[in-house]
Amino acid sequence: MRVNKNDLVIILSGSSRNKKDSREKRYRVLTVDKKSGKVTVEGVNVVEKHVRPSRRNPRGGKLSMEMPIDASNVQVVCPKCNKPTRVGARFAEDGAKFRVCKKCGTDISPIAPAKK
Ligand SMILES: [Zn+2]
Repeated sequence: MRVNKNDLVIILSGSSRNKKDSREKRYRVLTVDKKSGKVTVEGVNVVEKHVRPSRRNPRGGKLSMEMPIDASNVQVVCPKCNKPTRVGARFAEDGAKFRVCKKCGTDISPIAPAKK
């Protein structure tokens, strides 16, 4: 899984996908769960939870929160070329590892630091 927190992504499938602008609209990744392969994305798959009044939330009412979606339903948008892209990995000579955009070849972010 090559999606990280704070990545910008597009939605490939699921109910949140808007057919017309699905390749245009970008969303921010809020959390990544590597174990389950799920991500939560800002404004995507939002559910309204009805909560009883509690000490933390004395008035109760509705609480909206993002539910996890499968990471395979999103595609990372390259910050450099601004296109939805597959993400590859690149090893530098010093052993450092980077995520790279398959479209333009730019490093998106480091994965692992250089080995000493
Ligand atoms: Zn790119």
